[in-house]
Amino acid sequence: MEFTFDQADEMFRSQARAFVKAHLPQDMAERNRRGYHPLREDTRSWTRILYAHGYSGANWPAEWGGTGWSPVRQFIFDEECLLAGAPAVDTAGFKMIGPVIMTFGSEAMKREYGPRILRGEVFWGQGFSEPNAGSDLGSLSTRAERDGDEYVINGRKIWTSFVESAEMIFVLVKTDPEARQRGISMILVPREAPGVTIRPIHDIGESHSLNEVFFDDVRVPVSYLVGEEGKGWTYAKFLLENERATSAEWPRNNANLQRLRGYLQETQPDGRRLIERPGYARRLASLEVDLAALKWLTMRALYEKRGGHNHLPMGSLLKVRGSELLQKIGEFQVEALGAHGFYVYPDPLGDEQVQQRWAPGSDYAPGAMADFMYRRATTIYGGANEVQRTIIARSFLEL
Ligand SMILES: Cc1cc2nc3c(=O)[nH]c(=O)nc-3n(C[C@H](O)[C@H](O)[C@H](O)COP(=O)(O)OP(=O)(O)OC[C@H]3O[C@@H](n4cnc5c(N)ncnc54)[C@H](O)[C@@H]3O)c2cc1C
Repeated sequence: MEFTFDQADEMFRSQARAFVKAHLPQDMAERNRRGYHPLREDTRSWTRILYAHGYSGANWPAEWGGTGWSPVRQFIFDEECLLAGAPAVDTAGFKMIGPVIMTFGSEAMKREYGPRILRGEVFWGQGFSEPNAGSDLGSLSTRAERDGDEYVINGRKIWTSFVESAEMIFVLVKTDPEARQRGISMILVPREAPGVTIRPIHDIGESHSLNEVFFDDVRVPVSYLVGEEGKGWTYAKFLLENERATSAEWPRNNANLQRLRGYLQETQPDGRRLIERPGYARRLASLEVDLAALKWLTMRALYEKRGGHNHLPMGSLLKVRGSELLQKIGEFQVEALGAHGFYVYPDPLGDEQVQQRWAPGSDYAPGAMADFMYRRATTIYGGANEVQRTIIARSFLEL
């Protein structure tokens, strides 16, 4: 298999770069270069801008209303967006539930949600994990019982990211409590449906993106069932494969490492640039090699998916390599910042005045520790890395 960036792709890169330069609002870029979670409003406006120019749905085929770009072009576009500081589009919509709906959903569901995801009108929470069902997702116990034309949902989900500002939640439920995986279905639930209660969980990085979600006699029409009853496990596996591939986050790894390189090149605490110190140079070079390997693995995965060759557990491979690299880059960022790396700068998005209270230090410092803290979770979310290693081992050993 050969992946090359030919002249046409390089021209596409120039166009993408020019587009982002012309249309990405500078204040948005400034906010997103730091390590804090993007504002939902920024993600929404950026998606609207992409849509207006025919660039929404970089990873969607043209028949779904997406760009229909080749894997190389998707890759280039994501890379250029993240490097310029654009907020990532809603992963849960574009990369998780969107492809599930467009592949397995009813025609009415496709018509309802496909265009709204592309226009940035609907954001999603992923209601899979429960207090007693994380890695062992098959043992989930949230229940959906059929009552005429409705399902009545009862149960509790946990770690539901960004649901506090989402419109919809896609939830895995048991429609047959006696069966294990074959008793699982996937249902869409409006966040504001009566009986849905959201309780925030504050994380170690002093930000809020995690939640518990309680379902108490929540009623939704049967048309909110995705595909067929009892097939939720199949759809979840399809979705998780996409989620894991996305968790490799090549564009984010690339943007973070380039920023770090810039900092090491500019900073001279004792008259000598940090990048000239052998320990720093060696460590940077080693991360750059890892990044290059991740780039080619990501490209290979994109091509294999398009060609329908899914014989390797690519999602798991990408998840392990990408998540661990994000953590290694984060550790280096924090250490290179010295004393300023250990200060958790408050999120400037929460309070307009807060920026003035930042401790002195490099412009590079705010957000570094917050991102480092959040990225501790990359080896857990999307399926813990220990479990991914078992999947990889089983596949290679043909167990
Ligand atoms: C920041 C963050 C965001 C998240 N966002 C979401 C979200 O939006 N929606 C959602 O549904 N979930 C979300 N999750 C939940 C996430 O998917 C689970 O935390 C993850 O699947 C692990 O499940 P668990 O927490 O129950 O841990 P457990 O499954 O209890 O695992 C605990 C430890 O045991 C190890 N372990 C478990 N089983 C095995 C095994 N078979 N072999 C080897 N080791 C094993 C794990 O690797 C882990 O180290 C999020 C989690 C985090 C931290």
